[in-house]
Amino acid sequence: MRIIVVGAGLAGLTCAKVLAERGVEVVIFEASDGVGGRVRTDELDGFLLDRGFQVYFTSYPVSKRHLDHAALDLKSFDPGAIVRRGREESVLSDPLRDPKSLVPSLLSGAATFSDKLRTLALVAGSLSVGAATAGEMDGADSSSLEYLRSYGFSERIIDDFYRPFYGGIFLDRSLSTSSRVLRFTFKMLATGSTTVPALGIGEIPKQLASHLPPGAICTDSPVERLLWDGGRAVGVEVDGEEHEADAVVVATEAPEAGRLAGVAAPEGAVGQVCVYYAADKLRSGKKIVLNAEDGGFLNNAVEISAIAPSYAPRGQHLLCTVALEGFGLPDGEIYRRGVEDVTRWYPEAGLRPLAIYRVPYAQFDQPPGVHEWLPENRTNTPGLVLAGEYTEDSSINGSMLSGEKAAGEVLRS
Ligand SMILES: Cc1cc2nc3c(=O)[nH]c(=O)nc-3n(C[C@H](O)[C@H](O)[C@H](O)COP(=O)(O)OP(=O)(O)OC[C@H]3O[C@@H](n4cnc5c(N)ncnc54)[C@H](O)[C@@H]3O)c2cc1C
Repeated sequence: MRIIVVGAGLAGLTCAKVLAERGVEVVIFEASDGVGGRVRTDELDGFLLDRGFQVYFTSYPVSKRHLDHAALDLKSFDPGAIVRRGREESVLSDPLRDPKSLVPSLLSGAATFSDKLRTLALVAGSLSVGAATAGEMDGADSSSLEYLRSYGFSERIIDDFYRPFYGGIFLDRSLSTSSRVLRFTFKMLATGSTTVPALGIGEIPKQLASHLPPGAICTDSPVERLLWDGGRAVGVEVDGEEHEADAVVVATEAPEAGRLAGVAAPEGAVGQVCVYYAADKLRSGKKIVLNAEDGGFLNNAVEISAIAPSYAPRGQHLLCTVALEGFGLPDGEIYRRGVEDVTRWYPEAGLRPLAIYRVPYAQFDQPPGVHEWLPENRTNTPGLVLAGEYTEDSSINGSMLSGEKAAGEVLRS
């Protein structure tokens, strides 16, 4: 049996890994020059730059079936966050996972005592659900904002913490994303660590690719169209050349899956502008810094080399900052506005611009109810299987689950 996978993102790689482990011959055609899709890391003058700020939760239930966490040498963030409103600072710790920090946490200014109790109740409620993805969380769905308000959280904690914190995760400060994503994220935060691999987020797809035989991945090979025979998918065309297969797994982003496979895939996306600076050492340590200020440019920032020192050359420091707007601004203006925010928080920051990544399509849009109508891996077309975050939820875990299920579908059919 010979299977073609279109796309070497996490979904395509996981699918290919599972198939190869079952002795199936598999070839991946990838349009870009490397593996990983949206999960890649560049090197610049000794700095490791992830293509957009992203983190890996060690408690992701599916990805840990396929990844060797020890070999990734995962480096953990400190739980909680530093909330900045101009020169005002509140340190939010994580009482659930770090009981020692309960007292300072209760004293910090951004949250009331009842907000803390509600947070504990919310986490406890999320923990009781045995879901492998956001879509499997139980109960009626609503926007994250409606959900938090229905729980009775104060507008202060919503504005100062939830908007920038989950803005950094859903890339949506309006909190219009499905509350299932919020609750699933809570579960992940409370049951494991928030990490990055020591050598960059791109180590995750590289490790998956290492399970495939040499020559199984063809990069710089965009699939132009699928080949059909009497309504059955029988291969792909790459650079004018036809390649036949017993089945084709389309593992691209949702819009490209729609184009290639003619299936209805979710539309809409959220994105981020990720701005890197070489910096003098900051006081933020291993915590994420959240911008609670109205009209601020940056949503969040982290001295990523404090978490994983190999992100910066010895003796230097790397600051990773994220804006959820400004995609069309010139580089100079983006750097300037980032410096303006950070130096208000840390006047001693000494920032030197390094790189900007504009990522308009980071995650597919996940409004309330979205998980009810996402496409399945199985299609009505013989020989055609779908894989990609958009069949589960937008995350490293969701895309890998989708790849795993796609492989199962191929093996069954
Ligand atoms: C900036 C950013 C921040 C994120 N933050 C987090 C986070 O903190 N935690 C988390 O869990 N998730 C996060 N995510 C989401 C997560 O990275 C994605 O859900 C996941 O990587 C999607 O994987 P995928 O395989 O479904 O799609 P992709 O990674 O998009 O893979 C699709 C692949 O198909 C290739 N392709 C497209 N068209 C063709 C074609 N015609 N022929 C051949 N190849 C083609 C593409 O080049 C690409 O390599 C973030 C994503 C981004 C971008």
